[in-house]
Amino acid sequence: MTWIDPNFPHTAEPSDLVGRVLGLNPGMLTGPGTNTYLVGRDQPILIDTGVGVPAYPPLFEGYLHRRGWARPERILLTHRHRDHLGGVADLRTLFPGVPVAKMIYKDEGLPDDVQDVRDGQAVTGDGVTLVPVHTPGHASDHLCYFMPEERALFTGDLILGGSTTVIPDEDGDLGQYMASLRRVQALGVRRIYPAHGPVIEDAAAKIEEYIAHRLLRERQILEALGGGVRTIPDMVKAIYAEVPAALHGHAAMSVHSHLKKLKAEGRVDEDAQGDPPSRWTLR
Ligand SMILES: [Zn+2]
Repeated sequence: MTWIDPNFPHTAEPSDLVGRVLGLNPGMLTGPGTNTYLVGRDQPILIDTGVGVPAYPPLFEGYLHRRGWARPERILLTHRHRDHLGGVADLRTLFPGVPVAKMIYKDEGLPDDVQDVRDGQAVTGDGVTLVPVHTPGHASDHLCYFMPEERALFTGDLILGGSTTVIPDEDGDLGQYMASLRRVQALGVRRIYPAHGPVIEDAAAKIEEYIAHRLLRERQILEALGGGVRTIPDMVKAIYAEVPAALHGHAAMSVHSHLKKLKAEGRVDEDAQGDPPSRWTLR
């Protein structure tokens, strides 16, 4: 995938209030790697920590040093996926006692002493405010952080720079995901700092594009069902003809997320009798 940009800068200052250190974990799902953001004029708040790559802590320390900062004041996490919280242990070794918080929701196997942060419960830094916005869909515990000083949104994995996001089978929910997109659309965001990929300057256009993309897929699935296509593998073949076969597993997960949403809305029926795959029909 082209969004794994090997030349993506390891550190950057996208604004006076925001610094960025790359998690150094490139991949098909992470693009250039997880972005970790340092927010504030001084005593910065760190948003996300990468997956725990050994080269990350020295990169992070060097960046702090260049900015004249001693340590992050606190760590906020967008959600529980490993590529966002895997770096917590190394950072705690470097900065003993640094507080770590996320929205605790259906969580197992979190690092010790993670504090709870709730929707709307603003966190204040040096010259910045971060307002958590519960945005489930990619993950049930997902928070974005709204920064009114720039009308900017740290979107975690809700919106990415250079790819669409995955709605995982187990914990994902496309209906919630669409509601989350509409919720952040109503915030009047100007700029997006995504957890993967470059800064998005035209936030409104990107949010609209994300919503339109899912609505297009939904129409394609309804058309395929109307044309007599019954199973997920056949729908993937019909709808994702242009996508390399290596990605058809993810495509199948995406189609399934749409069918679950349509089923919850009472618009399709699933006949799960007999051998998988299920057969789906319009109601
Ligand atoms: Zn994620």
